[in-house]
Amino acid sequence: MKIAVQTMGCRSNQAESTQIESDILNLGHELVNSPNVADIVVINSCTVTAKADAQCRRMISKALKLGQRVIVTGCSAEINKETLLKTFPSIELFGNSDKHSIIKEIRQLSKNLNYIVPAPYRHRPIVKIQDGCDNFCSYCIVPYARGRSRSRPVQDIINEVVNLEQFGFNEIVLSGIHLGMYGKDIHETIDLAVLLRELLLRTRIPRIRLSSLEVNEINDEILEVISEKRICNHFHLPLQSGCNEILIAMNRHYTALDYKTAVQTLTMRIPDVCIGADVMVGFPGEMDASFAETEALIDQLPLSYLHVFSYSRRDGTPAAKMTGQIPENIKKMRSERLRHAGTLKRRAFISSQIGKTKPVLVESIHQTKHYATTRNFIKTVFQSTERYALGSLATVTLDKADHNFAAAHLVNVE
Ligand code: SF4
Repeated sequence: MKIAVQTMGCRSNQAESTQIESDILNLGHELVNSPNVADIVVINSCTVTAKADAQCRRMISKALKLGQRVIVTGCSAEINKETLLKTFPSIELFGNSDKHSIIKEIRQLSKNLNYIVPAPYRHRPIVKIQDGCDNFCSYCIVPYARGRSRSRPVQDIINEVVNLEQFGFNEIVLSGIHLGMYGKDIHETIDLAVLLRELLLRTRIPRIRLSSLEVNEINDEILEVISEKRICNHFHLPLQSGCNEILIAMNRHYTALDYKTAVQTLTMRIPDVCIGADVMVGFPGEMDASFAETEALIDQLPLSYLHVFSYSRRDGTPAAKMTGQIPENIKKMRSERLRHAGTLKRRAFISSQIGKTKPVLVESIHQTKHYATTRNFIKTVFQSTERYALGSLATVTLDKADHNFAAAHLVNVE
């Protein structure tokens, strides 16, 4: 049976989809990329913006029109359960806490059929270490959709990573909704730094990447462990706003100065570090002066790229009831300005790395062109008539910045 898993939203969803896909393969089914050729479509949805909800509805409607069986899970399924079942009565719907039951449903739907098992298909697998969030940022529906922070036991995570290592993977991406909360629900002595130390000690996986970190959770222990060579020198630090009044209204627990200090500390301490930021424009009450503060902060910081989002009103969150909602045309204009700033930052960062020799992980190959990623998250392309295995490590020298890529040449293979 051919099954397509369509994933929207955050790294947690991606990690859970990876788990669903791996269960599907273990059952002996074929995974397909395009829902057009699938017998069953699994949609792992997101509800972070109204746009995401609309996209989920479109995906369901398209799959149903093609006559496919549709299984919907994820945050949009959790928050909009009644509406979705009313609009699409033939779908199977599973809440976030019930995702493990999807595979039983697939087993049920596929009884007595013959299948093909394809080769492994991802080269930087995501390992989910935590779910949920206790932060309740005033614009975010996630704590309502996914509940409080819950961490996986250290031993479970180690077992998964050792397993991946034995399959020959060279990199894992640790993900969760709020990584910095890792361990707090297990025991007061367990936190993200402890987990990272254990992973470094008890596994040999060459590269461990963190999906994101909050600046107010970067303490001395974290700093020490993330400076280790096997932890990728790439950190994604959500900023959201550079204006303190807006940060307070968002219920974020840091100031613009805290953010600046964290970025400067990482830059001083970790060579060639790549630091990315999420920025939200158009939060209620964001005046021209508040936006100017965000722009000025971004301008002075050595950030490597930006992910820019427009605030989207989510019913059920405190921010939806706030006065001072910002018109869409202003949000659009602010997004465009920051996206442009982000493009310049990315190019400047890539240019700063030209001439350096670095290990890269090969992720895709087209004829002689090999596309690969450095530890500090630069996408490179190098030529080789000899075909390198997907997921293997090679060493290249970065020759030239080319838009969002660096053209490179091969030095040798590790
Ligand atoms: Fe949402 Fe804030 Fe938690 Fe992130 S930290 S998941 S934005 S509540």
